[in-house]
Amino acid sequence: MISAISEAIFVINSAGVIEMINPLAAKLFGAHNEMLIGQTWTDYLQSPFKDEYQSLFDVWNKANASNKQTAPFNHGPKEIIINRGDSTLLEADLSLSCLPSMQMGSEPLFIGIMHNLTNHKAEYHKLRHLAHTDKLTGLANRHAFDDALQTNWNDSINHDQPLCLIIIDVDYFKIFNDQFGHVNGDKCLQKIAKVLLDALPSSNAMAARYGGEEFVVILPNSNPLTAEYIAQKIQRSINQLTFTDLGLPAQTKISVSQGIACERGGQYRTPTALVCAADTALYRAKSSGRNRINISG
Ligand code: GH3
Ligand code: MG
Ligand code: MG
Repeated sequence: MISAISEAIFVINSAGVIEMINPLAAKLFGAHNEMLIGQTWTDYLQSPFKDEYQSLFDVWNKANASNKQTAPFNHGPKEIIINRGDSTLLEADLSLSCLPSMQMGSEPLFIGIMHNLTNHKAEYHKLRHLAHTDKLTGLANRHAFDDALQTNWNDSINHDQPLCLIIIDVDYFKIFNDQFGHVNGDKCLQKIAKVLLDALPSSNAMAARYGGEEFVVILPNSNPLTAEYIAQKIQRSINQLTFTDLGLPAQTKISVSQGIACERGGQYRTPTALVCAADTALYRAKSSGRNRINISG
């Protein structure tokens, strides 16, 4: 019967030995069903699922031994990773249920029903990436920035480590758009995004598009001197950008203004207060002539 059902199904005993398995389930385990009969199913689970399911059965077997009736067992659906016969990994969900004993005193059996999650997971990761990425520049978007700032803020407070923020705004970008058109404006923003990524000092640091022609860099475990050094590097690279590849005049140049704020020892009460301080510093950089770097505090 289980061979005819179009679900991946296997049956195990309380020792975890496979007694029946249909071809769909065998395919997920990555081995032929006849070869799998008599094998311990948890041998096909990736860590930590192998230990989890072994202890689940240990607990159930103990409860069952001290109980005249079969203890209830219904587990899942739960995501697991299968370590397949050919050593590839496969993500699946699994529900395990205890089958009612056919005869008094007969060994209890368990039925496992699995679904292959490979396609769902791939789609999920793709959508998650899209939800966190700015379409134009490929940088982290505002949503991802907000999440990362909160996470870095928590780490900074919990481990008493400094955290710096640079807010970057393109100077006179409206004029660039007016002169060269929005398509070239977009390409300019892409060049700026690349400069920011290249300037990041470590994989923990993040460059994000804050909105419009404004960007932000998060520098965890960094002091103001490091942040200023990174901002200077960004300033130099932005000033050196050329646009002849877009067909624009060789003398076309751009600059950015940058505001820096650093959290050290409880200076700011919230991540928002840190952003506000960097924004105020950016405003000072703008009003003092643009193409400038200003540090708060
Ligand atoms: P300031 O030095 O004071 O920052 O001057 P600004 O011209 O850069 O500032 P303003 O806020 O007046 O103009 C920002 C411009 O950025 C206007 C807007 O069209 C442009 N902009 C924002 N987002 C995009 C985008 O995605 N693509 C393009 N091409 N332009 C954008
Ligand atoms: Mg702006
Ligand atoms: Mg601007």
